[in-house]
Amino acid sequence: MKKSRAGRSHKQARVDLEEIWPSERDFMERPARIKYVRKLIKPKGCVFCEVEKKRPSKSSLLLYKNEISMVVLNKYPYNNGHLLVLPRAHIASLLDLEAAAYTNLSEVLKASLAIVQDAYGFKGCNIGLNQGATAGAGIPDHLHWHIIPRWLGDTNFFPLIAETKVIAEGLDQTYERLRPYFKKIKV
Ligand SMILES: [Zn+2]
Repeated sequence: MKKSRAGRSHKQARVDLEEIWPSERDFMERPARIKYVRKLIKPKGCVFCEVEKKRPSKSSLLLYKNEISMVVLNKYPYNNGHLLVLPRAHIASLLDLEAAAYTNLSEVLKASLAIVQDAYGFKGCNIGLNQGATAGAGIPDHLHWHIIPRWLGDTNFFPLIAETKVIAEGLDQTYERLRPYFKKIKV
């Protein structure tokens, strides 16, 4: 008797999980993301190292670069204005960054935050670095900070994980909005 109850509740728990997770994710509406996550389309080499060679443009999504650092729009944004700030060099660990590079990146990070705040007037912002695939980095071999503007009413962190956030602004619009600011910065 006890055994069968336990069996039922275990089965019930599993059913709940199966019903929750697929329905909360957004895979069906974002096929490009599926392909990326499942690696059906594999970028050749490191995508950031490819971007690093480009000039700032809508097609490269590169907003800014100096000798050491660069700023790129996230191709798969979690919210409008989602930026990536990263070293131009292919470095996987923060511990391998030299002091001068770290300082430069910090300054670019700060300048980028000021720009996004000015351009979007957000109420808050997630700034973070996922180091390593285990920590959730999509491109673990090339260090990158995320700047994710947040607004009251864009709910909690759950959409960041479940990828259900509706993006109101296209990448083109985001680029057009932000590029003029980045043209002016000197770090
Ligand atoms: Zn790289």
